[in-house]
Amino acid sequence: MKILITGGSRGIGAACVRAFAAQGDEVVFLYRAQTEKANALAAETRAIAIQADISDATQASAAVKKALEQLGGIDVLVNNAAIAQIKLFTDLSDSDWKKMLDTNLGGAFYITREVAKHMIANQNGAIMNIGSMWGKVGASCEVHYSAAKAGLRGLTMALAKELGPSHIRVNCIEPGLIETEMNDALDDETKRDLCDATPLCRMGRPEEVAAAVCFLASDAASFITGQVLGVDGGFAI
Ligand code: NDP
Repeated sequence: MKILITGGSRGIGAACVRAFAAQGDEVVFLYRAQTEKANALAAETRAIAIQADISDATQASAAVKKALEQLGGIDVLVNNAAIAQIKLFTDLSDSDWKKMLDTNLGGAFYITREVAKHMIANQNGAIMNIGSMWGKVGASCEVHYSAAKAGLRGLTMALAKELGPSHIRVNCIEPGLIETEMNDALDDETKRDLCDATPLCRMGRPEEVAAAVCFLASDAASFITGQVLGVDGGFAI
């Protein structure tokens, strides 16, 4: 399969790059800033790295064009890239709000719009949106992040209805607390409290999210669309 993953330079995205590459898929991944990490992962996995800021429609569209040139098609899209920010709701500036929504929801829109044109022409495809458990249950001091992730749920379900007749499946995966740099801002006590609130009593690993992504991308999931799958150790039950 030919795979496009956004935010592949580290964390969950990098685990997805490794998982698809390990099963023999051709992978292109996008990243924003961490060129060294992206190049190292590309060398390790033989995936192709493309630098692009997906919150910018022009850059997103150009990146999809480059990915299509490199791969000769896209069977699977993983909308994974995102940012996080912890801030009191009343302290959020217009630019905090705009940057969050443009990246975490807008990015998926810009990339998917371009990829969907190709998938519709091909009458085949699978799209996975990486949401968050906070899009389901809401996180205090992360209102803009939670709102963007809740938006991905709606995008997933609506797009599954619209693209289903073109044989394109669209699903959403909502990770719980996963061991990546995104959680570096959390102190140890907060992480302990979150683990205590997780039925499986621990943080998840990026590979555990990637395994669910690979499953939803595979033929084993051929009749699954419009679904939201929690990979959260049971946190959001
Ligand atoms: P990381 O912060 O570890 O990595 C984020 C990735 O997204 C990086 O590759 C980064 O690229 C890329 N990225 C960020 N902004 C942009 C942009 N504007 N354009 C292009 N690429 C961008 O995140 P995680 O791996 O932890 O998270 C992956 C996904 O999982 C996200 O959607 C996140 O919201 C979700 N998630 C994570 C959870 C967790 O506990 N970790 C919990 C729930 C959901 P670069 O490094 O090059 O800048």
